[in-house]
Amino acid sequence: MNVLERYVAMDYGPAPEPRGEADKWLKARNTEAGLFIGGAFQAAESGATFEVIEPATGRPLARVSEADAEDIAAAVEAAKKALPAWRAASGFDRARVLYAIGRAMQRNARLFAVVESIDNGKPIRESRDIDVPLAIRHFIHHAGYAQNLERDFPGYVGAGVVGQIIPWNFPLLMLSWKIAPALAAGCTVVLKPAEFTPLSAILFAEICEQVGVPKGVVNIVQGGPATGTAILRHPDIAKIAFTGSSEVGRIIRRETAGSGKKLSLELGGKSPFIVFEDADLDSAVEGLVDGIWFNQGQVCCAGSRLLVHESIDDAFIVKVKDRMNHLRIGDPLDKNTDIGAIVAAVQLDRIRNLVEEGIREGGIAWQPDCALPEEGFYYPPTLITALAPSNVLVQEEIFGPVLAAMTFRNTEEAIELANNTRYGLAASVWSENINLALHVGPQLKAGVVWVNGTNMFDASSGFGGYRESGFGREGGREGLVEYLVPARAKGAIYKPMPLVEPDRDTAPAGMLLIDRTPKLFIGGKQVRPDANYAMRVADAKGRFAGEGGLGNRKDIRDAVSAARACVAWPAATAYNRAQVLYFLAENLSVRANEFAFRLADLTGARQPNARSEVELSIERLFYYAGMADKFEGAVHNPPLRGVALAMHEPVGVLGIVAPDEAPLLGLVSLIAPALAMGNTVVAVPSQRWPLIATDLYQVFETSDLPPGSINIVTGRIAELTLVLARHDDVDGLWVVADGDTCRIAELESVGNLKRVWTNAGKAIDWRAADAEGEAFLRRAVEVKNIWIPYGD
Ligand code: NAD
Repeated sequence: MNVLERYVAMDYGPAPEPRGEADKWLKARNTEAGLFIGGAFQAAESGATFEVIEPATGRPLARVSEADAEDIAAAVEAAKKALPAWRAASGFDRARVLYAIGRAMQRNARLFAVVESIDNGKPIRESRDIDVPLAIRHFIHHAGYAQNLERDFPGYVGAGVVGQIIPWNFPLLMLSWKIAPALAAGCTVVLKPAEFTPLSAILFAEICEQVGVPKGVVNIVQGGPATGTAILRHPDIAKIAFTGSSEVGRIIRRETAGSGKKLSLELGGKSPFIVFEDADLDSAVEGLVDGIWFNQGQVCCAGSRLLVHESIDDAFIVKVKDRMNHLRIGDPLDKNTDIGAIVAAVQLDRIRNLVEEGIREGGIAWQPDCALPEEGFYYPPTLITALAPSNVLVQEEIFGPVLAAMTFRNTEEAIELANNTRYGLAASVWSENINLALHVGPQLKAGVVWVNGTNMFDASSGFGGYRESGFGREGGREGLVEYLVPARAKGAIYKPMPLVEPDRDTAPAGMLLIDRTPKLFIGGKQVRPDANYAMRVADAKGRFAGEGGLGNRKDIRDAVSAARACVAWPAATAYNRAQVLYFLAENLSVRANEFAFRLADLTGARQPNARSEVELSIERLFYYAGMADKFEGAVHNPPLRGVALAMHEPVGVLGIVAPDEAPLLGLVSLIAPALAMGNTVVAVPSQRWPLIATDLYQVFETSDLPPGSINIVTGRIAELTLVLARHDDVDGLWVVADGDTCRIAELESVGNLKRVWTNAGKAIDWRAADAEGEAFLRRAVEVKNIWIPYGD
């Protein structure tokens, strides 16, 4: 055999990572007493356990205690008991604990990596080089946030006891994404890992014990959906943080509706991987391997939809197939393995079924000629071509090593195809032309965009989705905010003003000289309500004061269409939006007297009060005008040669249901931040005092707001809130109303998982300083992180 022949014939020899230490740990640790509650390991009260299977072999690996509602109650009790001291601890004390956790994980990094690979089936190279280092980084990064919390977020405190539910694809990493910010914020936690992968969390609990995390600050419970449900339903949990499927995300949204619990959802995705004709194709192929075959494709942000420019499609696909031929599938503990095992038999079946369905629908599958291990759960890397956009493999999250490939003709089509999904988690853009990449990035509906790269994560940069990929971010300042609440105690119960339907003949003498037709304000025009019905409005003395339009479902639909069609406002420069809002303030100030009299007449407020409500409304418009070009994003410096640009983008079409309390100021306080950040708005003003809003149209009409940027539909609050909540083209909904209306808004928002903020049925003092400010602006934006590596 000559050198060339030897070279050609050369193959990898196995290079297994020893598992002895992990097996020893597993044997020594009684996982049947695997609940970590109040700083001690214990069995479930009921004695129940569940079996954990090793994906690489399909054989039993461990039995782990299964918590039920009683165990959850004990865990929440422990977390409650620990809360006051943990919250009161100095930032430095909390920072020291987070840092100690990170350091102890570092010391045990190899054990963590092996345990993770055995439990999940992921290649050791990934758990060793990605999962574990990123998890450690999360704790160490958040130590700094803990120490600086009061300076960073004056007037805020930790939300309280938080319930955290995580998936099986990155068990340790997801745990760190949940626990690190919660502890930094001064919360105590009850965390439930996924039932397929409970082990690294048990090892993590040992670390907490070792480094002296105060008892009850971290509680880890084990089990499946029933255990999760018990967490959701516990009344003393102040916040739920969930990562998992969109399907379960919906269940959780429903389950927590009206409970007053804060909620963040990190859900599924179907992320595009876009290759332009000027891309470095070899790099793009490597990126793609990482994008879709990392962790067997069981990645929420997997680049599972390949979009290639048609001029390079053939050449690119040849390269992809060639690379697929060289992927090594097999033992997760072998350091040469690229693709390990699928987490469970049921997941493997799901992948098979979806691929079969996609083929039946016309897709063509290609798989490399590779031998799969005889036992365990394996699926070969798979490429599907000839796909129609409606094919199940293009639409559904497969959560397996399956790539759906399509072509595009031009940039516009690439963007359209990329956004043709109900998800919006991540996107990867490949082009040597940075101008093109940065032209496309902001147009993609995704929380993360990677330029010439993929799967880059860092504790400093928020991660999370648009649309049905959920709401809230993990990592960065925006991730921390998810665990904070205003320190000020919540107000009294919100009470809607009693409605009065006066007879027309009760009008004060002279008022009806000129009858006014009740109108709505849609698409920049005053229009009659669809059904042409009106509601009679009383003044403070119960006399007839005028009529408001009685809007219905069709009016809301029209208003949403107008808001969606208004592209000028989100596209306007921030400076331009600032000027329009200043102009709006100016025009309101010209009519300040008239508004003050109207308010006094209608609400019975004394003149000075009415006047100050108008003045504060003008001041608030001024404030948000000023903030339009100041509430900006950030540039992160993650540990790579490059930057991550955290851009603030408008949420989109926002529904706003305004309160009866301070009918002018309340309305202005909500629509001004929404408009300042470039959202288009469909507002439903106070049902009791709609005439304030109808007077406001005339101010809008003279203030250069583009048609459709602000739409107002008057009518019955409960009915119109329901329509807005169910409308799938409304991206966000803010409701200030009674508790029941707030609950309905949350409950009915599950269709497109719109981001909902409500007053949780509590009164808001609209004159208070905290009724304006960053909290409102934050709600009005999505943070998109665009990662740009640089260097030649
Ligand atoms: P899953 O939704 O089935 O389960 C997630 C967790 O929720 C598990 O702990 C499970 O026990 C629990 N659970 C299931 N039903 C429940 C219920 N009715 N009530 C309370 N808890 C319940 O998801 P999975 O299969 O474990 O994970 C895969 C999904 O996670 C994918 O959709 C993936 O995209 C998503 N994911 C998202 C992110 C992200 O950051 N966006 C990260 C990782 C995974």
